[in-house]
Amino acid sequence: MENKELVIAIDGPAGAGKSTIAKMVAEKLGYAYIDTGAMYRAVTYKFLQMHIPFDEEIVGKVADEIDITFKPQDGLNMVFVDGTDVTEEIRSSEVTNNVSKLSAVSAVRSAMVNLQRKMGENGGVVMDGRDIGTVVFPNADVKIYLTASVEERVSRRYNELVNKNQSVDKVKLSEEIIARDKYDSEREISPLRCAEDAFYLDTSIMDKPEVVNKILDICRVK
Ligand code: C5P
Repeated sequence: MENKELVIAIDGPAGAGKSTIAKMVAEKLGYAYIDTGAMYRAVTYKFLQMHIPFDEEIVGKVADEIDITFKPQDGLNMVFVDGTDVTEEIRSSEVTNNVSKLSAVSAVRSAMVNLQRKMGENGGVVMDGRDIGTVVFPNADVKIYLTASVEERVSRRYNELVNKNQSVDKVKLSEEIIARDKYDSEREISPLRCAEDAFYLDTSIMDKPEVVNKILDICRVK
């Protein structure tokens, strides 16, 4: 493991803890962490800023022209769109409620997949998303499908938002997560699914260090 810079793909449904775990694994290995969900959120944010009705062609153009950069800072993964910090804005409920629709647009996916392949071409990355092990890096060295029961995922996301002093309606949150998973799994292009050669990890009754150690164990044999 020391000599080879791996590509580690972590896919799974909303609220499974992918970003937290991916970030922890990346820190342990000294790898870059790439949150591909943030990239689709960034495109959605930029499009919503235009205040125009949904239009596939325009959305595709936004995805082609957008400049997205990540900057790790104080344990946070800062996200910039065309040079502006949008780390908080891309987590708004408006973006969350629209992101799956934009992510299903073919031109958006090809623009993001191209960027993601460039970011990971030299290895040494942990990338999390929905289609990393199936489409972006079908030959990734390590593929993990990270999931947990819906109840557990809702409760984790709920606690995360409450800790950020946000007021949250748990029933609404649950509906949003279920709807997003359905949309992401049923779309025509690159639907969310577990790659055949991925390690399926149900974390419902695991804590974070256990999950991280399990992934590091899998990496060790590569
Ligand atoms: O990971 P996160 O929940 O922030 O992702 C937001 C949305 O971005 C997902 O619900 C999905 O629609 C889209 N996405 C995707 N492919 C990825 C990562 C995220 O379609 N690789």
